Amino acid sequence: MLNLIWLNQSTIDFALLITGILISGVLFYVSFVSILEKEYRAARVSFLLSVILFIPLIFIYIYDFQFKEIVSNILLAFIVLPSLLLFLPIRPKVNGGFQIPKQKHDERDVMFSRNELKPETENFNIYYSNNPDKKDLDDKFREKPGLMSSVSTMYHPFSFASAHANLEVIETLKPIVDGIVNEQKINVNASEISNYIKIWSKKLGAHSVGITELKDYHLYSHKGRGDLYAKEINNKHKYAIAITIEMDHEMIQTAPKGPVVMESTQQYLNSGTIATQIAYFIRNLGYSARAHIDGNYELICPLVARDASLGEIGRMGLLMTPKLGPRVRIAVVTSDIPLIVSKPKDLTSIIDFCGICKKCADICPSRSISFNDRDNVDGVLRWKINSESCFTYWCTSGTDCGRCMAVCPYSHPNNFMHNFIRWGINNSYIFRRFALYMDDLFYGRKPKSGNLPSWIDI
Ligand code: SF4
Ligand code: SF4
Repeated sequence: MLNLIWLNQSTIDFALLITGILISGVLFYVSFVSILEKEYRAARVSFLLSVILFIPLIFIYIYDFQFKEIVSNILLAFIVLPSLLLFLPIRPKVNGGFQIPKQKHDERDVMFSRNELKPETENFNIYYSNNPDKKDLDDKFREKPGLMSSVSTMYHPFSFASAHANLEVIETLKPIVDGIVNEQKINVNASEISNYIKIWSKKLGAHSVGITELKDYHLYSHKGRGDLYAKEINNKHKYAIAITIEMDHEMIQTAPKGPVVMESTQQYLNSGTIATQIAYFIRNLGYSARAHIDGNYELICPLVARDASLGEIGRMGLLMTPKLGPRVRIAVVTSDIPLIVSKPKDLTSIIDFCGICKKCADICPSRSISFNDRDNVDGVLRWKINSESCFTYWCTSGTDCGRCMAVCPYSHPNNFMHNFIRWGINNSYIFRRFALYMDDLFYGRKPKSGNLPSWIDI
């Protein structure tokens, strides 16, 4: 048996040379990609590792010394066996994987809704007399300069003005999220029209599109924003189409500086535009449809997107997509047009990874993200962030912060190198632990906020 795995000297010399070339080649590639991504720490670390790991292997290949055969065999075993182990599909079941909420949420409790309440108004007085426990918490964010304020700590005139421009254009979409349905109904094939909507949405700029049945727990119980404040939500559509849009990696890396709010509002606008177009399209075919976009939702987009197989809900309480992590914005279209729902995917590896990672919790400037395991919140196992302290930080910085999103190991760019690592994370319990260690080594446990792109820094 030993003879089968114990290699003679010439064979092992060759095996070590090939292994050294492979390892160094991969690390050179990582270094090169990292330079393109402006991840200079990762570039330095991978370059150094490529040299450090190559030297002993080439030394053994070139020089003869006592016990060379034994040392060579042990060294090769130490490299090859753990590498093989990393790629075995070891996936123990994640306890309490897919969770279904037991009750509806009220949009009036969302921080954006509470932020819109003006002191001394009827809605303000009613809300805080019904929720006295929230009054002191909300007074704290009201003492701060506020989102996109010119006296906030991250104030930047150009990026804030761009974000305002994005929000003003989104305002023009709000009245047209719903509308008149064409009286002439065109018969459609559910499979064909689902495919049409998915491909067209991607051509319009969507990153991923999924379809689910609309469930009661997707919907808010009451509106919390705009003219319909406090109105009970009564959406009877059968299906929901979830659309994600990628947020630019370089812009998000600057978090919590101005470009992050510029980028998030931009992608709220882009996702909202696509959803509004799709809703119009469906109404033109003779079926009811409503777009759910920033500031005008009837439902909780991350939950719909999760059920449409686009991701899982992670430690930050956001949708974590398999290829971009939380670095997406979501819009939804609900409709009664016949559709085919997306096949369920097992993405509980995301929950397992969030369980060990905690990088977002470590970096959060307001300590709003839990370090603990998922907790039972209203009958559902999940992580709940402290939305009051998070929003108070937003009202101090003037931006929507995004430090947690910027450092998340899932947020790296959507390219071959990072997709391979994300594949490994999904494939293996062991790879996940190794990938987290490497992410800390290459990018740092608490990476610094990126510089403003030169075209914005004027
Ligand atoms: S940073 Fe880590 S713990 Fe936080 S959401 Fe991302 S993967 Fe999960
Ligand atoms: S957005 Fe900022 S303050 Fe809020 S949870 Fe993330 S890191 Fe913390």
